[in-house]
Amino acid sequence: MPISIDVFNSGYKPIPNPSGWTAPQQATWPATTATLIAGSTDALLVDALITTVEGERLAAWVQASGKSLSMLYITHGHPDHFFGAGPTLAAFPQAQFVALPEVVAEAHRSAQSLEHWRGWLGGQFDENAAIPTELESEGLEIDGHPVRPIALGRSDGVINSVVHVPDLATVVSGDVAYNNIHMWLFRSTPETRSEWLDTLEALAGLGPEKIIAGHKDPGAPDDNAQRILDQSRRYIEDFDKAVGRSNSADDLVARMMDKYAEYGNPYTLLAAAASQFGT
Ligand SMILES: [Zn+2]
Repeated sequence: MPISIDVFNSGYKPIPNPSGWTAPQQATWPATTATLIAGSTDALLVDALITTVEGERLAAWVQASGKSLSMLYITHGHPDHFFGAGPTLAAFPQAQFVALPEVVAEAHRSAQSLEHWRGWLGGQFDENAAIPTELESEGLEIDGHPVRPIALGRSDGVINSVVHVPDLATVVSGDVAYNNIHMWLFRSTPETRSEWLDTLEALAGLGPEKIIAGHKDPGAPDDNAQRILDQSRRYIEDFDKAVGRSNSADDLVARMMDKYAEYGNPYTLLAAAASQFGT
């Protein structure tokens, strides 16, 4: 039996009161994906968004697939990829809610420090969200097709795992690669940016043809792995160089917008730039 991959995209959601945001347009949170890997009857969902409202939309979308969800797998421990799991877990009580051990540890740490998340999306998510438990088997499969969770390394601050589906030459990448959206370099340092580039190399090493990025512009042309790997590397390298050449956050934003004006979620760049200059 063939397996299929379908992607739910949350789109952009308003950040009601972002500090430091003076642009006329509404500040937003990056569009985020959840991915359903399905066989004839059984399915595995990768990631679960953050707000309660989008979590409900996600649960309805999975139900509409007609598949029976056996597992909800979380790629990394940032709340925007798992705090919205509640409605899906309620709709599919038999589904295991899991992540790799190092991700479970990060998820617990994230749930203990919600200060920034309240500032961005406070009141919209469940502060007592369920935390995934440790995945016990690494040998997952859907209808006989292997599905491999792999811890690749650090990307935007935490250990990131990906889900490799070799028979479809596809990797669901969490936050390792982004698709046409400004990348989350908030509080990044030269060292963490270099680590993220190493993690991208590890992703490239899996040889994917398609990458389903955890943050994807809804208008992105495709999931072409080469394009996504190239743009993700280039963005981090350009940001790194631009930090060294800039005198202020505004200067850094202007340098990046010269090259990436078309990318989604400029608020991400503003937050990243401000964090480089201690503002
Ligand atoms: Zn993310």
